[in-house]
Amino acid sequence: MIRFEHVTKRYPDGTTAVDDLSFEVAEGELVTLVGPSGCGKTTTMMMVNRLIEPTSGRIRVGGEDIAGVDPVRLRRRIGYVIQQVGLFPHRTVLDNTATVPALLGWKRAKARARAAELLDLVGLDPKTYGPRYPEQLSGGQRQRVGVARALAADPPVLLMDEPFGAVDPVVREQLQDEFLRMQAAVRKTVLLVTHDIEEAVRLGDRIAVYGQGRIEQFDTPAAVLGAP
Ligand code: ADP
Ligand code: ADP
Repeated sequence: MIRFEHVTKRYPDGTTAVDDLSFEVAEGELVTLVGPSGCGKTTTMMMVNRLIEPTSGRIRVGGEDIAGVDPVRLRRRIGYVIQQVGLFPHRTVLDNTATVPALLGWKRAKARARAAELLDLVGLDPKTYGPRYPEQLSGGQRQRVGVARALAADPPVLLMDEPFGAVDPVVREQLQDEFLRMQAAVRKTVLLVTHDIEEAVRLGDRIAVYGQGRIEQFDTPAAVLGAP
């Protein structure tokens, strides 16, 4: 579903953030990208939705070379969840969740019904929370709305950058559990960036262990933990 072929990203100041990276993620697979700060995880992920363009190499999503895909159209097929969720403050939780279906031109009733379904899926009762505004939610609840919004248009691919980083450890574990349950139901192809090896092990079907600009190991959690 996602395929990197000899991808390099050099920033204008000369920093090589990603160096000749090749890997493949299967449909429905959840891959966690783990490693110290500054080793290229976020750069890798943001090249998948063309928020960052590679310097060289090729990236395919669903077999298609994304260099030829309009970035706005591409982003509507790819869900994206970041640590500071960035919900629209003046829109209700339900309308925030319905953002992408609305952009895709779905009928209002259909978009809102879909949004309610997704809020339910992430554990927020749509009747209670749908009419609220983001500032009326806890951090963990906002994070769930971020996940619901990213999934509302049913994109085949989901990118997550430290999605559970901004909440306390107890809520974090709860969100991880809920996310795993949800992923078992919807089976998205997921890239999830974390600096927390425990989270990488807990969530990943496979783990990409980063060193400076490279993936040093790409294997199942058991194999990564068993490594000398
Ligand atoms: P990670 O997500 O693993 O923390 P990043 O992909 O954010 O790593 O960054 C990889 C490297 O690229 C770092 O050295 C970082 O400082 C550098 N970098 C990231 N964004 C830019 C940018 N816009 N301009 C220059 N260097 C950047
Ligand atoms: P426009 O170009 O009309 O402003 P965008 O496509 O930029 O619309 O999207 C508007 C908002 O919706 C953005 O803030 C973006 O974060 C969010 N958004 C767009 N596509 C997605 C997506 N696939 N997943 C999650 N949020 C998205």
